[in-house]
Amino acid sequence: MKKVLCLLIVFLIGVQVWAAKDFVPAELDVVYPRKTIVTIKSPSTFFVGSTDPDLPLTINGKPVTVRPSGAFARQVPLNNGKNVFTLVSGTQKAVYIIDRPIPVSASRAKPVFSGYEQPLAVLTTKDNTALRSTPVNAGINRIAHYQKHTPLLVDGHQGDFFRVRLAPDQTAWVFKGDVGVNEGEVGPAALKKQEQADNREFYIFNFEFDRKLPYVIQENPFQVTFYGVSGLDTYTFTPKIPTQKLTGYSGNFHGNKFVLKIRKEVNGAKVLNGTKCLKGMKIAIDAGHGGSESGAIGCFRDLEKNINLYIAKYLEAELLARGADVVMTRHGDSYMGLCERVDAANEKDAVVLVSIHANSLPDNSDPNTHRGTSVYYYYDQAKPLAQSILTAMTTQLGLPDDGVRQASFALTRNTQAVTVLVETAYMINPYDIELLRNKRFQLSAAKAIADGITNYLNK
Ligand SMILES: [Zn+2]
Repeated sequence: MKKVLCLLIVFLIGVQVWAAKDFVPAELDVVYPRKTIVTIKSPSTFFVGSTDPDLPLTINGKPVTVRPSGAFARQVPLNNGKNVFTLVSGTQKAVYIIDRPIPVSASRAKPVFSGYEQPLAVLTTKDNTALRSTPVNAGINRIAHYQKHTPLLVDGHQGDFFRVRLAPDQTAWVFKGDVGVNEGEVGPAALKKQEQADNREFYIFNFEFDRKLPYVIQENPFQVTFYGVSGLDTYTFTPKIPTQKLTGYSGNFHGNKFVLKIRKEVNGAKVLNGTKCLKGMKIAIDAGHGGSESGAIGCFRDLEKNINLYIAKYLEAELLARGADVVMTRHGDSYMGLCERVDAANEKDAVVLVSIHANSLPDNSDPNTHRGTSVYYYYDQAKPLAQSILTAMTTQLGLPDDGVRQASFALTRNTQAVTVLVETAYMINPYDIELLRNKRFQLSAAKAIADGITNYLNK
């Protein structure tokens, strides 16, 4: 009997070791840099990947820490010209040649403005075309975003930008690559009709023009200005609505009709028997990336799009269990444009839109020192939701606080919903990636995000 028991124990230990070995990489697999011969302009880059944790790993003879899971990351400085790195893990070797081009010191001539004798009529050629206050691609200098086929008048250019003439005393800038010649009708557009058609959730203002025209929406005070209106030139509309905290809104052309929707005050979630209930609350969940767009690649070659979807699906289940009415921008591994994602949330009249992502880093950063959750918002009114989700993530999961930040992501703009983008943790941090690919962590992250949303809506 004793012998049988011993055999059983040996067998079980064997199975355990085998099972454990199954999850640990046996081979050196460098995920980044993606190729063995590359050009990188930064003063430093990093090696990220996995290997057998029982073997010492070195880069050019210097030891690299390998986590028990096998994950590793190491930042390396780059000299100008050719840099050779030899990675050795046991008997395996990988050689990388990274070329850092010598920085060109010649200062590029600053572009100068050149005006046109006659303004030129152009049309935006893409959705989400940014109208900017300065002729640079600086992210935060955005004034408006236009759909495809919005007519603009340009009166000159500077560098890569056309100057847009909005009104005699008001100009802005558009990237040359975002517009083409307008061969259609040009000139002022007549305002044919204006009406208010509120419903239970929204103040709705409809404007009918005889063609599309450029517009700018401003907050504090809230107003919409249309440019190039017949007889008026500039028409500014200030909605007469009860003073309230601004939550979500949207303003878009649908054909020649401009629809402005401003959300009435968000009803707080009801607290029932101590359990927080989101009964009837419309919440949109967006799993970042999908299909041909993989997002970041983790130390074990996990794809961000898949991790985002797992967490998004757990979040969906959690919110449904709390009584919310949930809309998912994608259910499977499919590609979806950023505007389509926003449209899906707006169509549903979602109160909150949360986009789930996992973070990565550019060259010249250290993947070992970047950890934890960060939450991004664009409109000021979304900042409290961002903070609420960050607090839940850091307190419930013990993740480092990587900050609440304002950034202009297409997904967080022009949404009726209060919108945030959650970077759950870092795909290329050796510790974070172990969490991200763990089902229990994915479930806990979903629960923390649900709590963040619930706490926000309860305020
Ligand atoms: Zn992402």
